[in-house]
Amino acid sequence: MFALSVFLLSLLVLRLAWLQFVRGPELRERALAVRLRDIPVEAKRGTIYDRTGRELAISIDVDSVYAIPSQVRDKTATSVLLADTLGLDKAFVMERLQSDQSFVWIKRKISSDQAAVLRAAGVAGVSLTQESKRVYPNNQLACHVLGFAGIDSQGLEGVEYQYDSVLRGVPGWISIEYDARGQEIPDAVHRYFAPTDGLSLVLTIDQTIQYICERELALAVANHGAKAGSILVMDPRNGEILAMANYPYYDPNQYGIYPSEFRRNGIVVDTYSPGSTFKPVVAAAALEEHVVSWNDTFLCEGSVLIGNRRIHCWETRGHEEQTLLQVLENSCNVGFMEIAARLGIAKFYQYVEAFGLTSRTGVDLPGEAKGLIIPENKAKPLDLAVMSFGQSLTVTPLQLVSALCAIANGGTLYQPHVAKELRTADGRVVERYSSEIETSVIAARTAAELNDALESVVEQGTGRRAFIDGYQLAGKTGTAQKIVDGAIAADQYVSSFIGFGPTRDAQVCALVILDEPTGDHYGGQIAGPVFRTIMQEIYRYLGIPVVTEGS
Ligand SMILES: [Zn+2]
Repeated sequence: MFALSVFLLSLLVLRLAWLQFVRGPELRERALAVRLRDIPVEAKRGTIYDRTGRELAISIDVDSVYAIPSQVRDKTATSVLLADTLGLDKAFVMERLQSDQSFVWIKRKISSDQAAVLRAAGVAGVSLTQESKRVYPNNQLACHVLGFAGIDSQGLEGVEYQYDSVLRGVPGWISIEYDARGQEIPDAVHRYFAPTDGLSLVLTIDQTIQYICERELALAVANHGAKAGSILVMDPRNGEILAMANYPYYDPNQYGIYPSEFRRNGIVVDTYSPGSTFKPVVAAAALEEHVVSWNDTFLCEGSVLIGNRRIHCWETRGHEEQTLLQVLENSCNVGFMEIAARLGIAKFYQYVEAFGLTSRTGVDLPGEAKGLIIPENKAKPLDLAVMSFGQSLTVTPLQLVSALCAIANGGTLYQPHVAKELRTADGRVVERYSSEIETSVIAARTAAELNDALESVVEQGTGRRAFIDGYQLAGKTGTAQKIVDGAIAADQYVSSFIGFGPTRDAQVCALVILDEPTGDHYGGQIAGPVFRTIMQEIYRYLGIPVVTEGS
């Protein structure tokens, strides 16, 4: 009996030693894990500012409700209270409370009134934690640039998506210890792992210029019964995007209620036939290659025969004999077919590529598309003729504005971008962004000559609806027929105007596009006045001096 007792006792001692010394640390950890609950603490998403420091996207503190199901005593009463207070379905709440998970969300980002009710009620097993909610204080302003962040504060579109890794920050958590009955133990283990807040992003966008563009674009679309429209404003001296608007707009505060096509940033993700707004690129190439001079004359009899196809000028009666300047002023298609023919297919493609029209610009926005062009080895003289006036090839509005900026600034192609600086919450600059591309496309002298000619287009050519005395605006109209299912659509046009100013010291370059206007469709007639209005207001806002006669 004694021997047996000693044997059994030593077994117990050995078992105890095993548990205590061998498995001890692991078991202690497990016991703590059973008593600890991790409550997530969200990092605060960085603020997005415009270039002048005005807030475009902010994060505010809001409460979120969670439950620890094992601690909820009266599940029926609790689910009724939660459902009523938070406007949820009772069955949904009940299902959550019956979950065997240690932590469940009941509702994220609730209103302060709802939070006050729950705090006052003090329900066992139900608590509030602070999270941050994204708010866009200007509603639809710059919506396609900003994009939006989802419920987990993750960037889903626009710069919110593009710069998510820096804006987001690193979440933290709190570990709270509970006793066997599920009560929080006072003064027990409370491990707090602080979140690291996201960095703030300063954009190149100017809120005022953005506002002007959005207002005028909405007005123009309504006045002309257009289907959609876009305005892009860029600084030709460095590729900074000052405004980017696509109509229709949406409110990123409630992005879920809009159809997805409202959220498309067409300036970046869609391509179109630029029509005559493409002609400055052709003219620049021809001047740079010295295949044309300002003294040359071009005869337009309303159409030309290329092979067995007759291609018409937009002015079917013809423009008669014109100088190169008049070809530009009149936007004469026959003249441009002649210019492109002198340039030849190889040089034409070389410059289209050099102006960045065959590749993505590398803008810091998601989903960028690039234009389509017939492969060079398949291009025929007829294709070249049609491409000379911007048909039979497509570009994104962004590619076209970047190309025109290179003409406006004296020949340098920059990479367009919307981010300017990254800052810490206390305003220290962590990173400065600038154009990563800086290639010389044409000589400064070629650019200067062409700029003067484009000013003349506004003063006395097809662009005169954009003229304002003393503003030194240069530009080009465009009217392109839309291609629907591979064929030219009879009555569907894209009317546009691209330009910049002041001519010899360009600070602003802008493109206005109206998609499928009804009634008038010539770009000069309907997009020209919009360009004129926005430039007038931008000049006033930026304090660009106006040259008045005699001063
Ligand atoms: Zn003509």
